[in-house]
Amino acid sequence: MSINKRETLEILGISVDKVDMSKALSRFSELMDTEECSLIVTPNSEIILSATKDSALREIIASADLVIPDGIGIVHASKLLGQPLKERVTGIDFMEMILVWLQEHEKSIYLFGSKPGTEEREAVCDIAAKKKQLQYPNLKIAGTHHGYFKPEEEDSIVEEINASGADFLCVALGSPRQEDFIARRRKELKVKAAIGVGGSFDVWAGTLKRAPEFYREHGLEWLYRLIQEPSRYKRMAMLPVFMLKVIMNKSKS
Ligand code: UDP
Repeated sequence: MSINKRETLEILGISVDKVDMSKALSRFSELMDTEECSLIVTPNSEIILSATKDSALREIIASADLVIPDGIGIVHASKLLGQPLKERVTGIDFMEMILVWLQEHEKSIYLFGSKPGTEEREAVCDIAAKKKQLQYPNLKIAGTHHGYFKPEEEDSIVEEINASGADFLCVALGSPRQEDFIARRRKELKVKAAIGVGGSFDVWAGTLKRAPEFYREHGLEWLYRLIQEPSRYKRMAMLPVFMLKVIMNKSKS
């Protein structure tokens, strides 16, 4: 089937798809109908900023088939650039829509990444899978694998994913590791599409709380995350740097 033309917006030299949730989902459904493994990335301002300095990450994002505007910083930047995005499409909200889509279309998902099990509790990906199975009883979960492995184990993980017959792959290894994994392995992967999901399995499993409605509605999810994980402050301090760079870049052009 033919893929519709993409409409993109360039932020600090990185192309982001001009999509709201509904357009992102229809693009996703097109990608699930192609032969090769498509790459979906959900960069926030911090990742875009790293991509300006990291050519490998820049190339990975440029090679992606869908680049979701994840985060309030990107929406602010789009307004500053005079090409306002309607809304931010957070990775975790997008994933929820994808799960509904997968269930409806009887396509299966594989969960790869997050912390392994301990004596006290199961691996986060398994808890996440069980919780989502309860929420979506007809969702087909083809398999799971935790994300703490030695480089020499990677080949067998790819084989396991392929052997599971999964249609769609979620990778939770943190950014940019998850995107790098998909980009390096996409030729061998038999899934139709793969996405990097950061801490989503932790949220699904309940080990990390998602920001309450108030924070989400006011674009303050980052503040809630900072309260939960104060060690992230250095990464979050990148938001004003990002905005400043967008402004400076605009005034140059
Ligand atoms: N993770 C993993 N393997 C690693 C490092 C991290 O599976 O070697 C997992 C980690 O347990 C967490 C996710 O990757 O579930 C990273 O989440 P984070 O929110 O830090 O993602 P980021 O914001 O860096 O994209």
